[in-house]
Amino acid sequence: MSPIDESYDLVVIGGGAAGFFAAINCAENYDGARILILEKGRQPLAKVRISGGGRCNVTHACFDTATLTQYYPRGSQELRGPFSRFQPADTLRWFEKHGVMLVAEADGRIFPASNTSQTIIDCFLGAAGRNNIAIRTQCAVETLQPAEKGFELGLRQGGRLFARFVLLASGGDPGSMQLAVSAGHSLAPPVPSLFTFHVQDPRLEGLSGLSVDPVEISLPAARLSQRGPLLVTHWGVSGPAVIRLSAWAARYLHEQNYRAQLTINWLPGERPEEISAALTAAKQHTPRQQVATHAPFPALPARLWRRLVQASGMGADLTWAEATRGQLRTLGEQLSCASFTLQGKSAFKEEFVTCGGVPLREVDLRTMHSRVCPGLFLAGEVLDIDGVTGGFNFQNAWTTAWLAAQEIALRLEKSSYFSAPPMPRDG
Ligand SMILES: Cc1cc2nc3c(=O)[nH]c(=O)nc-3n(C[C@H](O)[C@H](O)[C@H](O)COP(=O)(O)OP(=O)(O)OC[C@H]3O[C@@H](n4cnc5c(N)ncnc54)[C@H](O)[C@@H]3O)c2cc1C
Repeated sequence: MSPIDESYDLVVIGGGAAGFFAAINCAENYDGARILILEKGRQPLAKVRISGGGRCNVTHACFDTATLTQYYPRGSQELRGPFSRFQPADTLRWFEKHGVMLVAEADGRIFPASNTSQTIIDCFLGAAGRNNIAIRTQCAVETLQPAEKGFELGLRQGGRLFARFVLLASGGDPGSMQLAVSAGHSLAPPVPSLFTFHVQDPRLEGLSGLSVDPVEISLPAARLSQRGPLLVTHWGVSGPAVIRLSAWAARYLHEQNYRAQLTINWLPGERPEEISAALTAAKQHTPRQQVATHAPFPALPARLWRRLVQASGMGADLTWAEATRGQLRTLGEQLSCASFTLQGKSAFKEEFVTCGGVPLREVDLRTMHSRVCPGLFLAGEVLDIDGVTGGFNFQNAWTTAWLAAQEIALRLEKSSYFSAPPMPRDG
C-alpha cells in the first residue's frame, strides 16, 4: 500500500454548501486548523451557483423553530434541537457578518441583495482563502477507512490522505452515500423529491399556463394533501401545492412508480354542500343563462369552469334550467374532488432534492457526529433530511454544517486530539 501523502485535521468530502459552511466555521473557531475540502466536480459550489434560478434562495424568513420544522417532510421532529441552535435568524447574522446583505421577498424567501448566487460563492471562497482552507477540485474520494486516531481517504485519481476528522458533505448523490455505508452507516434509500406531476387529461388540455390559487390537491391513498397555487403545464400540473405534495409523498410515489390517483378540489374555500347550494341557486336564479358561460364562482378561471362543465356531461349551449340534478351533482364533484390519474413526474425547474440518506438516529444531532463511526461527522443533504422549496434545504445545510463545525473545532482545541503542529499561516 502506498504511503500517506498528506495529513489534515479535517478533510471535508464535498465542496458544496454544507462542506464550505462547515470548513469556514471550523477554521474561524479554531485558528490554525489544517482543513482540506475535496470536491469531485470541476468547480466547487456548483449547486449554489445554479440554485434559486441563479439567485440562490439562501434561507426562509421563518424564525420560529417549531414552525420551521414543518417545512421538512424528512427531519421535521429531529431538526427542532439543531434549529434551536442555528436557524434562519443566525443565517442572516452570519452572512451579514461576512459582508453579504440578504433580503426577504414577500413570500418569505431570502436572497442575496445582489440577486446573484455569485455573491454567496465569492463570500465562501473569500472566507476559505482568508482561513487557509485548501480546496481541491476534480478530486473524488473513493474510500474512507477508519485508521489509528483518524481516517485514511483514498482518492479516485490515486493517492491517500490522512484526516483526524472527516466531514461527509457529499450531498444527495446516491453513489457517494456509499462512503457513509462503508463507515458503518445504513441508508434510507435515496429517491427524488420536489417534482411536478404528469397528468394527461382532457379537462386540462390546452390550459397550459393557467393558474388556480388556491386548490387542494390530494393523494387519497396516501392520505396526503396540500393547499396552495396550482399551475397547469403542457404535461400536467405544477406550482407550489404540487411541488409540496411531491415532497411529502416522495417515498410513497416512488413505491407506486409515480402512478396514482389524485384529487383536486378547485374550490377549497367552500364546503361541498355550499358548492351544491350555489349550483342549485344558479339554476333557480339564472335559468336562461348557459351553464358554460355563467359560473357562480367568480374566482374560478372561466376556461377551467367550461372544461368542468363539459366533463359533467353538459353541452356548451345547455342552460341552467335544462341542467339535470345528476349533471349538477357531477359538476359539484368535479369542482370539489375531481379525480385525475398521475402518470409520471418531471423535474421542477431542474431543482430537486434527495429524500433519503443517512438515518438521523445514527447521528448525534447536537454535534452531527456519527454514532457508529467515531471522528466522522455528517452535514447537508447526505442526511435523511429534506425540505420543501423556499430556502429550507440550504438552511438544513447551514445548520447541520454549523453544528458539526462547532464540535470539530472544540475537539481540535483539546490538544490531545491535535495530530500535528498547526501550519504556518500566510501574512
Ligand atoms: C437546480 C437546483 C436549485 C436549487 N435551489 C435551491 C435554493 O434556491 N434554495 C435551497 O434551499 N435549496 C435549493 N436547492 C437544494 C440545495 O441546492 C441542496 O439541498 C444543497 O445544495 C445541499 O447542500 P450539500 O452541501 O449537502 O450538497 P451539495 O450542494 O450537492 O454538495 C455536495 C458536493 O459534494 C460533491 N461530492 C459528492 N461526492 C463526492 C466525493 N466522493 N468526493 C468529492 N466530492 C464529492 C458533489 O460534487 C457536490 O459538489 C436546489 C437544488 C437544485 C438541484
